[in-house]
Amino acid sequence: MRVKVGIIGGGPSGLLLSQLLDLKGISNVVLERRTRDYVLGRIRAGVLEHGFCELMREAKCGERMDAEGELHDGFFIADQGAMRRVDLKGLTGEQVMVYGQTELTRDLYEAREAMLGNVIHKAEDVTPHDMTGAPYITYTVGGRPRGWIVISSSGLMVSTVFHGVRSLKLWSMNGFTRLAGSGC
Ligand SMILES: Cc1cc2nc3c(=O)[nH]c(=O)nc-3n(C[C@H](O)[C@H](O)[C@H](O)COP(=O)(O)OP(=O)(O)OC[C@H]3O[C@@H](n4cnc5c(N)ncnc54)[C@H](O)[C@@H]3O)c2cc1C
Repeated sequence: MRVKVGIIGGGPSGLLLSQLLDLKGISNVVLERRTRDYVLGRIRAGVLEHGFCELMREAKCGERMDAEGELHDGFFIADQGAMRRVDLKGLTGEQVMVYGQTELTRDLYEAREAMLGNVIHKAEDVTPHDMTGAPYITYTVGGRPRGWIVISSSGLMVSTVFHGVRSLKLWSMNGFTRLAGSGC
């Protein structure tokens, strides 16, 4: 397989990045070590920041989030018997969206499938090679080596593992570089 971008990790960050790249006509593949059912069964985030909601809309995956999610202006912190309100909207001008990460990931999967996106599950031993030359990725499935993924000349490999969508790390010809934003 030859693509421009190899994405390691198929959580929300990897799937969203894959979708955004595809919408811009940039070929890519997502390598995820778990099964789709496992990824969709993980219960995690439920509160989405404004910027992430905007990215979901840009990725054309925000329809159900906007219909079913709940907008909140702030939250309370219980402190020694007193409830203290943090007025997010007043302080930042933005609201947060309450929408389960499981649902969001399902929306991203469905969008990837609708565009025939490449998401490879149960990919283990995912290893990038020759980062400054002719980059490629190797991986195994069930202990068996699978085909190489070749990153075409101007391409990138992106790890979305442990970094989150706002702080994707990318390997490029210049080494390990921060792509965007601050850490999650
Ligand atoms: C209990 C809990 C509650 C949370 N609540 C909130 C919240 O309310 N609001 C909020 O904004 N955030 C919340 N978070 C954080 C949010 O879940 C993460 O920010 C989000 O999952 C990050 O997405 P991601 O795609 O970057 O990483 P992940 O969801 O961790 O996805 C990374 C993917 O990479 C795969 N992977 C890992 N290593 C490899 C490898 N070597 N090869 C191939 N694949 C690999 C993993 O299987 C995984 O699917 C919560 C997290 C937890 C655990």
